[in-house]
Amino acid sequence: MTKRVVQGIIRAIPASDGAGVKLMRSLGQSNAARIDPFLMLDCFSSEEASDYIAGFPAHPHRGFETVTYMLDGHMRHEDHLGNVGELRSGGAQWMTAGRGIIHSEMPQQESGRMRGFQLWINLPSSEKMKPAGYRDIQADQIPVAQLAGGGKVKVVAGTSHGVTGPIDGVSTQPLMIDVDLPAGQSFTQDLPEGHNAFVYPYEGTLVIAGERLSTHQAAILSPGSEIEIAAHDGGTKFLLLAARPLNEPVVQYGPFVMNSREEIEQAIHDYQTGNFVEA
Ligand code: MN
Repeated sequence: MTKRVVQGIIRAIPASDGAGVKLMRSLGQSNAARIDPFLMLDCFSSEEASDYIAGFPAHPHRGFETVTYMLDGHMRHEDHLGNVGELRSGGAQWMTAGRGIIHSEMPQQESGRMRGFQLWINLPSSEKMKPAGYRDIQADQIPVAQLAGGGKVKVVAGTSHGVTGPIDGVSTQPLMIDVDLPAGQSFTQDLPEGHNAFVYPYEGTLVIAGERLSTHQAAILSPGSEIEIAAHDGGTKFLLLAARPLNEPVVQYGPFVMNSREEIEQAIHDYQTGNFVEA
């Protein structure tokens, strides 16, 4: 058992995306701020409608997967395939852009709290042009592992404490869990040795191998087979993500993530000429 430690920190910075949604961006704030295969992590959190009401009108993606995880609020997803999905508190959406998807994500509330995450996970070169796919996961489809000290682990993907999440068939074998840890408690998770992993506290402060992390700091973990995370003074809530690295070149142009410049130029050309999505 090799315990993982904090190898680096990516502090989230304020950013704006879509038609002007205010958010905090950790991964993806620069090309260096990635943890293969994770490309981007945005956290949006506001009680002010003006921060989120403009939403994310129709836009394309190619070459990777997007995961939206809602903590509070209600957004509606619509895409060119005719899918309509309601994203509600505690639910998730796992979308494989593959060769191309055009979708919108618009708030379905005019007041109150909107809080959640959007994560981008890269696809291997062999899957970048596969057909687009989409999965809606309602809150009650995300199983919860109860920890002995009163903590809770919501398992979106992978397995934690004997509980397996609803997402399977993803070749990067992601683990995505949302952990609620009361004060004084600690949490241990086995991780495959070769998988990259990071932790993102979104409430409270946590401690990893003596290192304190406060909210909106993504902690990149060293290699190892296990991670132990303790709640500092108060309780903490955090995401833990891990996946198999692709070790392939990444060329990104906005919402297109491919392996080469030529493939990006092709994506732009396909989008401009109406050949972006499968016929
Ligand atoms: Mn999108």
